[in-house]
Amino acid sequence: MAKSTLKNLKQLYVHELRDIYSAEKQITQALPKLAKAAQNQELKEGFEAHLEETKGQIQRLDQIFKRLGKSSTGEKCKGMQGLLEEGSDFIEEQEESAVADAGMIVAAQKVEHYEIAAYGSISRYAELLGFEEDLGLLQQTLDEEKETDEKLTELSDQINGEAQAGHDSESEEEAMETGSSAKSKRK
Ligand code: FE
Ligand code: FE
Repeated sequence: MAKSTLKNLKQLYVHELRDIYSAEKQITQALPKLAKAAQNQELKEGFEAHLEETKGQIQRLDQIFKRLGKSSTGEKCKGMQGLLEEGSDFIEEQEESAVADAGMIVAAQKVEHYEIAAYGSISRYAELLGFEEDLGLLQQTLDEEKETDEKLTELSDQINGEAQAGHDSESEEEAMETGSSAKSKRK
């Protein structure tokens, strides 16, 4: 297969914009599933609110592509695909519980950190390329991703505690596992 060569920062900028565009589209498919699966009401509403925010983020990207005269498609974000697959596999395996909510929070925070990395780099390209209008739009989104990450951290402070308090047959299993691993270490 012929290698496609990006020749300058502007081309890389468009490439990365398409990657995050694909990521955002995938996120709009995943957030309703997270909202549905969340037990904690605040977490549920948080996912729903971020879905609306994400739709706005896609509109900002549409504006940027329009201004650049470029199509938004052509890239599939495999990184986001992997993160979201992990998240949906996790949801399918878990019953509703504080532990499951805590697991959804870490999955969501991995997504937010991916987005923060992407928008952080893309914003700097926009700045260097002198695309002031794009920069403003990208920074609004970057701020939203950071706020979402912070909200998730706040929620995790409460939910992780509930997850920690949950004790049942699992703790016996763990004790057994620890016991057996301790035994195998002794060998
Ligand atoms: Fe986003
Ligand atoms: Fe996000």
